[in-house]
Amino acid sequence: MSAFAYRDGRLHAEGVALETIAETCGTPVYVYSQTAIEDAYREFAGALDGLNAKICYGVKANANLAVIRTLARLGAGADVVSGGELARAVAAGIRPADIVFSGVGKTRDEMAQALTAGIGQLNVESEAELAALGEVAQGLGASAPTALRVNPDVAVDTTDKIATGRYEHKFGIPIEDAARVYRRGSRTPGIRMVGLAIHIGSQILDLSPYRSAFAALSESVRGLRRAGSAVERLDLGGGLGISYIGETAPGLGDFADIVRDTVGSLGCELVVEPGRRLVGNAGLLLSRVLYSKETPEKRFLIVDAAMNDLLRPTLYRAEHEVVPVTAPADGQEKRRVDVVGPVCETGDYLAQGVELPMLEEGDLVAIESAGAYGAVMASQYNGRGLVGEVIVRGDAHAVIRPFQDPAILQALDRLPRWLE
Ligand SMILES: *Cc1c(COP(=O)(O)O)cnc(C)c1O
Repeated sequence: MSAFAYRDGRLHAEGVALETIAETCGTPVYVYSQTAIEDAYREFAGALDGLNAKICYGVKANANLAVIRTLARLGAGADVVSGGELARAVAAGIRPADIVFSGVGKTRDEMAQALTAGIGQLNVESEAELAALGEVAQGLGASAPTALRVNPDVAVDTTDKIATGRYEHKFGIPIEDAARVYRRGSRTPGIRMVGLAIHIGSQILDLSPYRSAFAALSESVRGLRRAGSAVERLDLGGGLGISYIGETAPGLGDFADIVRDTVGSLGCELVVEPGRRLVGNAGLLLSRVLYSKETPEKRFLIVDAAMNDLLRPTLYRAEHEVVPVTAPADGQEKRRVDVVGPVCETGDYLAQGVELPMLEEGDLVAIESAGAYGAVMASQYNGRGLVGEVIVRGDAHAVIRPFQDPAILQALDRLPRWLE
């Protein structure tokens, strides 16, 4: 069941009418269902039952403290990609030992921050980074728990900006070099090699690339062990897709079967890093209609949310369902419209060619499946304030980030003395 459903003709988030949220918190605003996040986590954990796998939530999908804390309370760890996310994960209550630090470009300061915090794992993506991590760890008198992120050169059928597993992508160490670099890591002072990591992309709907990638990973583990290296842990990354318009999310049971078949018998501790799958369908972007207009070519619905609030449609050509907050009457005529925002770019659209009933100024619409890679990618482009966020639990709702008035950003600007 979706956490967002019509009751008495009005769209609700759990027990709260979206109208109420719009009136009390303003629009545009992201609305998350805490119960939906919890359900998604429990479903994931249930599917992996018996696999000795830890779920480290991919924080970059939605980094609000309330969202991370919801998952922390259920026992999740975190996968972070910057010092800022690491600080958020710790502040939200995730034990540093349950945090993995991923990313191709960790700075030495970030490495030191992670080691000082007592992080559970750093995923290294190049020999240069391995050397830097060793130096930083030695400087701190620490030993860095390190996994090598390998690139298996596997293609996934997703949008090109978020496929990560081919040699043309910047990520990981080519899998044929993994054994050599792993052994080098084992000899590097300050480094303690704990395992291998992989992350082949995001919004993956067809699971077969996982099978190829995990099988290749398993081969690497066997090779390393034959040569005398210990490999305790395998980090399988994230990437499981959700359904946007016209898409079918892969089954978690099928994913778990692939994990079991490929790496299940190696005796490794497993880590998985789902982001989108835990939060994507648990959020929507609530927006108010400003105007509608027609050109000889098209009809436009102009709303108060824009590409700076939700970048996915224009960045990834993602298709989010848009629904009216007041349920249309049976048989009410629908029209094909582009839902666009006030930003001065033709690329500023939230949906193109979607069927909606006639809506008027002041009506509310919900842009669905916006819980992942929505608020975190928001900007203040066009001098717009940073979009707010609200979480709902049962009949209660709370602002978890207020709308940020553009005056706050303006106040940070400085005039150089020659322009004063
Ligand atoms: C982005 C990312 C994730 C999460 O990806 P989803 O597609 O949201 O599941 C996990 N691990 C790494 C290394 C990532 O970069």
